Amino acid sequence: MDVVEGIKRGDRRALARAISVAESGGAAPLIASLFKETGRAFTVGITGPPGVGKSTLTGALVKRARAEGKSVGLILVDPSSPFSQGALLGDRIRLADHFTDPEVFIRSMASRGHLGGIAGATGDAVMLMDAFGKDLVIVETVGVGQSEIEIAEVADTTVVCLQPGSGDSIQVLKAGVMEIADIFVVNKADHPMASQLKREIRTMMTMLDWHGWAPALVMTQAMSGEGVDELWGALWAHRAYLHESGELRAKRASAFAHEVRNLVLGRLAGAVDQAMLRAMDSGLMEQVADRALDPYAAAERVLAAVDVKAAPGGRPRMAPRVRATVKGLNAPAEHGGHAPSESEMAHHREAGV
Ligand code: GDP
Repeated sequence: MDVVEGIKRGDRRALARAISVAESGGAAPLIASLFKETGRAFTVGITGPPGVGKSTLTGALVKRARAEGKSVGLILVDPSSPFSQGALLGDRIRLADHFTDPEVFIRSMASRGHLGGIAGATGDAVMLMDAFGKDLVIVETVGVGQSEIEIAEVADTTVVCLQPGSGDSIQVLKAGVMEIADIFVVNKADHPMASQLKREIRTMMTMLDWHGWAPALVMTQAMSGEGVDELWGALWAHRAYLHESGELRAKRASAFAHEVRNLVLGRLAGAVDQAMLRAMDSGLMEQVADRALDPYAAAERVLAAVDVKAAPGGRPRMAPRVRATVKGLNAPAEHGGHAPSESEMAHHREAGV
């Protein structure tokens, strides 16, 4: 199957396949062929702690989008497992209404095992859905923490969801999530503490030094659909603001700077791994272990043998044999996970939607 042609034709299987290829780090040729078709979709990031009501809210937004005839791509980022396909979707019964709608494409992706977390393969998946022609691409991530901040790299508009009575506002302050929110949602507005949380967020917002767009604050009851129209309106108001102010371009340029830097690092990491493997084969590490050579001197030797041109492209990931040697210190463990092996990846690919 020609995946690129398939995507241009609107073949969903081609899109599923392309995202699997992106997950295994092979997106470069696809993005090269499709990049010019991207930049049209409205990309929205939805983040917040577990149980706040993100998927209920996402379901309501998808419904709202479909009522306006907009096609939707939905990416559920699963931080807990590198292989979430199936399991996570099974949990998302609130999205079940949309499983059979051909204009809604739902995909879960793992953020573990990818250095660069969400911004990595998820960014590719967003571009692929955009090229496919989705009007709206929603990326839902769990948690309010450092790695979730990356959602702002792939989304035009970032929605931070909080719930009353949970100390969420404190969490937001601590994690530095404040700055990424274009829209705050207080979900479960039916909760008695809802107005207190609203006040806390208003107070937090006075500490922010924003210019241009002041984060919107929307109260919702995702279950009943209350406030969903307001949220929908806030999303499009932010979208309009981004376009009219020219900020969208600046925002994308900065996100691409991050992306390009990651890709360069990926290439460098590949070259370093190749040089490491050669050094390991020639017994360099034994020399260090014997104290015949100090680690700095060994690093200089490896560095001298780094050949960037010969290195594979793609996202930063450690060569399996180097990873096996550098036990417990592998790069993807930044997110607490392990990088998938080739057989796991193949299994994962077969399980594609
Ligand atoms: P997620 O983990 O953030 O995706 O949260 P879910 O969408 O799975 O919702 C978590 C729970 O909160 C579910 O039991 C929902 O039914 C419930 N919930 C969602 N929205 C509301 C709301 O507006 N009010 C109340 N009381 N419960 C809600």
